[in-house]
Amino acid sequence: MTPRIVVLSAPSGGGKTTIARAVREKHPDGFGFSVSATTRKPRENEHDGVDYHFLGRSQFLEAVGAAEFLEYAEYGGELYGTLKREVDKVLSAGRHVLLDIEVEGARQVREQYPPPRSMSIFILPSEPRVLLERLRQRKSESIEQIRWRLDRAEYELQQATLFDRWIRNDDLTTAVAQVVAIANENSARGRTRDKKDFEWITNYGRMLRTLYDELH
Ligand code: ADP
Ligand code: 5GP
Repeated sequence: MTPRIVVLSAPSGGGKTTIARAVREKHPDGFGFSVSATTRKPRENEHDGVDYHFLGRSQFLEAVGAAEFLEYAEYGGELYGTLKREVDKVLSAGRHVLLDIEVEGARQVREQYPPPRSMSIFILPSEPRVLLERLRQRKSESIEQIRWRLDRAEYELQQATLFDRWIRNDDLTTAVAQVVAIANENSARGRTRDKKDFEWITNYGRMLRTLYDELH
């Protein structure tokens, strides 16, 4: 099986970080992870070179100038990017490479590596209320940041149609198995989605908006 780029995107709280970690833990020989670069400050328990390569803004822009990024984008006022060398390292070791990135970066990767060279997966819990609960329970963002991230989620949901697959992150084990199956599909075709999921995704943004208005 030729290793491919597996892009995981989700509105904040959707579960991409958790799923990416679980996939690697379950299949360390089949999957590797690309450590992104960012200008955002490390959170408690985050380590440079492990969770991210933490760069100053000028360092990041230098790397952009030196064409070191496969993609990069701005999110919440900070820059985030996938380093080509990180992706190449994993692919050349014969493993699929997982990217946990936002939607704009996902679009850029898909353009450069169309399916089956990459597969892009959009992840959400079935219920918008669960998305909000998970985001709040994670306790890594202030209420203002949660508001911003929910606001951003509306835009991200509008981009969901660009993705090759949609996954419901309700039961973690099931979601992990789905990601592994998609990565290992033999003749992966782009944009194959369950028809009944269109209605789900279409209504999701509206339901999130209601929850957002209730948030104080
Ligand atoms: P993202 O990286 O997309 O922002 P996270 O992976 O940080 O999302 O998940 C958000 C929160 O939801 C975390 O606290 C995580 O532990 C929890 N979570 C993720 N997936 C599940 C799941 N299937 N069931 C229960 N909790 C989950
Ligand atoms: P966080 O600050 O919560 O770690 O990440 C914020 C957002 O940036 C998330 O949606 C995450 O997926 C995204 N992100 C992380 N790394 C990259 C990257 O290399 N490129 C892009 N485009 N987005 C990234």
